[in-house]
Amino acid sequence: MASIRKASAGPSKYEVSAEAAVDLAKRHLIQPWPYSGSIGTEARSLIGSGDGIYIHDGEGRRLIDGPAGMWCVNAGHRREELARVMYDQAMELSYNTPWYTMNSPSAVLAERIAGHAPGDLRHVFFTTGGSSAVESALRFMQFYNNVRGRSEKKLIISRGGAYHGSTYLSASLNGRPRDRDWMDIAGGLVVKLTSPDPFRRPAAMTIEAFSDFLVSEFEETVERLGADKIGAFVAEPIQASGGVIVSPPNYLPRIRQICRANDILYISDEVVTGFGRLGEIFASESVFGLSPDIITFAKGVTSGYFPLGGMIVSDRLLADLRRSNHPDAMYAHGLTYSSHPVGCAVALANLDLLENGILDHARDVAPYFIEEMKTLEDLPLVGEVRGIGLMACVECVADRESNNPLQLDIEVGKRIDAHCYALGLLVRPLIHMCVMSPPLIITREQIDDMVAILREGISRTMEDLR
Ligand code: PLP
Repeated sequence: MASIRKASAGPSKYEVSAEAAVDLAKRHLIQPWPYSGSIGTEARSLIGSGDGIYIHDGEGRRLIDGPAGMWCVNAGHRREELARVMYDQAMELSYNTPWYTMNSPSAVLAERIAGHAPGDLRHVFFTTGGSSAVESALRFMQFYNNVRGRSEKKLIISRGGAYHGSTYLSASLNGRPRDRDWMDIAGGLVVKLTSPDPFRRPAAMTIEAFSDFLVSEFEETVERLGADKIGAFVAEPIQASGGVIVSPPNYLPRIRQICRANDILYISDEVVTGFGRLGEIFASESVFGLSPDIITFAKGVTSGYFPLGGMIVSDRLLADLRRSNHPDAMYAHGLTYSSHPVGCAVALANLDLLENGILDHARDVAPYFIEEMKTLEDLPLVGEVRGIGLMACVECVADRESNNPLQLDIEVGKRIDAHCYALGLLVRPLIHMCVMSPPLIITREQIDDMVAILREGISRTMEDLR
């Protein structure tokens, strides 16, 4: 694997002291996902630099980047190969309009991505991230059905526990209550099914019976609403932000078949699972045995070095459009930064890294990562540790007999996070869960460190709750 430079590159000329940054943020910065009571006045932990799997905070504390940013820093921090290609590309061509010109990195990247995609997914539309990728796919479905004269076929099926983004339509698919509690959504367009979470399945139901239940629920929904009203089924292969939900085996391929039989587009949201997290560039076919109509991706495509995402669309869908009676109908959808040359160039360099060592490494260490994370199940607070590839979740419970989730006001995830932070590990807390998805370059020794800190953080939290 290519080596990672350890020496600090030094502060950028825009760096200010930690105190000054916090002060400025409190006065002028609106952070993502703010609460109304602290909006515009909040200071979060300041991260000053990164290196490999580590980040350094404003006080110089070194932390393992447990969530790899937000599931995205797959190749690790401070990769000189990636930084340099961004510099070189910006010096060559920093931007061109995608409206009536094109650049070569985007064409080369589209071909490389198409080469990794399953089935006849051969055509890539670039966006600025995951939400815009999902939004593009949904709007594509609407356009596709309008052009085919099926303007009634627009409902979107999503699932509890899903997270698909923060634009209006993509956010309307999200399955957690907070995404709709205080926010407006396009509710009339979206139908939600049960989260395929085996841990939360009804007591006494086998996994096989749970899988059958999920499939029947989908079949009944298609029957009830009418296939002529349903445009798309959208699913993350693994529900990531929902708590690394690994659905029952064979459930997704069965849903895929029903979609195919009913002319419902299957959109596989690989914003998290794509680009190496499960040891593959795309997991839909290689891990889950299904070939979708559209795949969306983002995050790991540039290892978080540049905001880029996209959707990959099948030959079949484009051929249907070309054959339609409306050759002049426009997919009136594009972004100023679609096909950004700097983003596409860094994605190509990132793909080189993934193909030349990181994917092999991720496949090699993933079983060890899951095995070590699973050792945490001996802690009484832990109801289940689940995961696949290099993504795992520790779900805490009030008591292991009933698997009751802990009271929300205990905020156990935040407590674990606070202890782990002090011990040198950044954790992604999700109410009563902690998600770990480290950079894919993590070694076995670093996994040992990470799990040891997590064990200590959970143990200290148990002490707090005593
Ligand atoms: N889809 C999935 C599965 C995600 O996990 C996310 C973000 O976490 C998104 C879409 C939205 O991506 P972005 O935050 O880049 O807009």
